[in-house]
Amino acid sequence: MELDVLVIGMGPAGSGAAAAAAAAGAKVLAVDRKREIGSPVQCGEVIGRSLLLRSGLKLPRQAVSSTQDHTRFHIGRELTLSNHGEQWASVTVERKILDKLLAAKAAEAGASVHADSALTSLSMDGDRVTSATVRMRGVEKEVEPKVVVAADGVHSTVAKMAGVCWNAEDMVARGAEFEMVSKRALPRCMQIFLEEEVGLGYGWIIPKGRDRANVGLAEVGPAERMRQRVMGWIEDNPIVSSYFDSGSVVEVKTGDAPVPGFQGGPSRGNILFAGDAAGQTLAFVGEGIIPAYLCGLVAGEAAALGPESYDRSLRAVMGEELGYGGEVKDAILGIWHDPSLDARQRYLAAGLLMSEAVPPGELEAFAGAAEEMDLGGLRRLLSGSQGLKVSRMRRA
Ligand SMILES: Cc1cc2nc3c(=O)[nH]c(=O)nc-3n(C[C@H](O)[C@H](O)[C@H](O)COP(=O)(O)OP(=O)(O)OC[C@H]3O[C@@H](n4cnc5c(N)ncnc54)[C@H](O)[C@@H]3O)c2cc1C
Repeated sequence: MELDVLVIGMGPAGSGAAAAAAAAGAKVLAVDRKREIGSPVQCGEVIGRSLLLRSGLKLPRQAVSSTQDHTRFHIGRELTLSNHGEQWASVTVERKILDKLLAAKAAEAGASVHADSALTSLSMDGDRVTSATVRMRGVEKEVEPKVVVAADGVHSTVAKMAGVCWNAEDMVARGAEFEMVSKRALPRCMQIFLEEEVGLGYGWIIPKGRDRANVGLAEVGPAERMRQRVMGWIEDNPIVSSYFDSGSVVEVKTGDAPVPGFQGGPSRGNILFAGDAAGQTLAFVGEGIIPAYLCGLVAGEAAALGPESYDRSLRAVMGEELGYGGEVKDAILGIWHDPSLDARQRYLAAGLLMSEAVPPGELEAFAGAAEEMDLGGLRRLLSGSQGLKVSRMRRA
């Protein structure tokens, strides 16, 4: 079967790509190996409100489990910063519903959409795909696409088959979380934890209503026994354990998130990579739902109208946000590997960068003052910072 565009993977990136390519008039086949698109969930399910508004996505009520009006950072067990404003407001979604909704939008736009259908092999002529074999609900089919959009996630099979790698091992964060019922009402904010017990990453409480939340952590590097570690952290952290008991777990979610930083619109021959397959997350936090969807839209339109425009269009649409995310992530890595800082100074610095209390450009001044980092010193340092968005600081 001849095709204009073959989309592999129907997460937000693939569904965005399939919808955009079909809307541009292409004959599109879009496949996902999952029997139920969106399940199992491997995600904290939170979306920054400003990115959501920019995406133009209208979420139906059943896809939204809660909204948060600010973000609280717990840095070490000594500082709490609360950031307010549009950019710190968030929406928690039900990924199982959202991902299906996006796949349905692609079908409505005219793409041929198939769950339970996996790419099994690619035939290549040099770096160009000439044909692909897809096992569609148990039946092997060969298709001849003009362009392939690889939206098949962080461990992209297409990238492996094409011999490329956009997500180096040391640029992948391993995560685990529990959806838990809380003992008392949760505040209407997302809570982020940076502390020695978490390592090079962060922990979170992402509300899904007043009495339920995704509670977990992710860290860069080889993380072992993540589920046990997360439960140990939940029990040990005084704030987290004041909300949750270990015996209130209703779902377990694990997965890997790419954080390489912005790499433009990666392609190889007639393959365009989008979403996690291309490392297109806000690298300092690993937020990828809306970035994947927006990058997928750009990849799909380019696949239909002119694949050579992908990188240029992507830089115009997402370059600023994804580039900034990479810059903050690089600054955090830099400070993490700075041998002159001790563990406490590292997570304090990482927390101040991540909460945008200290912009990456001011890191050197910050590092210079780091040795004097008592609470008073930090307050003085922050009050001189141009990027100050901290509304409240107190001992936790
Ligand atoms: C623990 C954790 C927490 C996270 N929390 C958040 C969060 O709170 N907010 C946020 O914005 N982001 C979060 N992320 C990141 C977010 O989940 C991803 O960035 C987002 O899902 C990327 O979308 P995608 O479409 O690129 O890839 P995916 O959603 O991974 O979709 C890829 C799809 O490709 C399919 N596939 C793979 N191989 C094949 C094949 N051979 N044939 C057919 N189909 C195939 C898979 O089945 C899958 O459905 C988190 C990630 C992790 C790991």
